[in-house]
Amino acid sequence: MNEATGSPLLRVEGVSRRFADGDVQALDGVSFSASAGETLALTGPSGCGKSTLLSLIGLLDQPDRGRILIGGQDLARVRQASAFRARHLGFVFQYHHMVPTMTLQENVEAPMLALGLPRAARRDRAAELLQAVGLAPRAGFLPRHVSGGERQRAAVARALANRPAIVLADEPTGSLDSRNGQRVVELLITQARAEGALVLVASHNPEVAAALQRRIALRDGVCVADDRERLRPAPPQGLASVFSSTVR
Ligand code: ADP
Ligand code: MG
Repeated sequence: MNEATGSPLLRVEGVSRRFADGDVQALDGVSFSASAGETLALTGPSGCGKSTLLSLIGLLDQPDRGRILIGGQDLARVRQASAFRARHLGFVFQYHHMVPTMTLQENVEAPMLALGLPRAARRDRAAELLQAVGLAPRAGFLPRHVSGGERQRAAVARALANRPAIVLADEPTGSLDSRNGQRVVELLITQARAEGALVLVASHNPEVAAALQRRIALRDGVCVADDRERLRPAPPQGLASVFSSTVR
């Protein structure tokens, strides 16, 4: 997605969301903006509003107040949410959500159907991504015949299939042990950065959050910290330097 020069790719402006059911103010006036190529963690304890915020950015829900703009476009004005999602957004969830009857290759190809890509282009792109996440030898396997870490790496490949402007990952390591979780996050960061995407990872795990360039902390639906000020200019670089730049 092309954006006007200088304007951030994502702008969240005073966003609130209340759930009548349970009388919960899940988000209360959250604002921040982020640029293409950034890797950003949404942190905070369970129930602080991370998933609600990702759902709003992912056009899976609408705010009661405030607005969200992606590439300058107000999401409230998007007519076809599913087409917008397919074209501009990639999703990684806590559980992989692979189609069980399709091979990893077919699962990674699936989002490209929505863009009308020819078969050969879908096949090549999926093969390239599976290679990048270390799954080339598993491409023809069904999800149940690979490990949990491998399924989640395939989910990362699938999220990137349509070259999204923004990748939204909600507790992407939640179903994995810490070693496999770390690997999934590393791959998500390297691959998304290589493609210039903005990455937003919601995680209550400080280890995961530490791997990203910037952290926004939520408490009871309010943004209580944003360490953007620490952020140094970050040209495309290897993961080692991404990690060293976040070590304090
Ligand atoms: P997190 O992802 O940080 O754990 P959530 O965004 O899932 O937090 O939830 C924030 C608050 O909103 C919690 O109190 C949760 O119970 C509530 N909540 C989330 N989704 C709904 C919903 N669909 N209906 C009612 N309450 C909800
Ligand atoms: Mg959550």
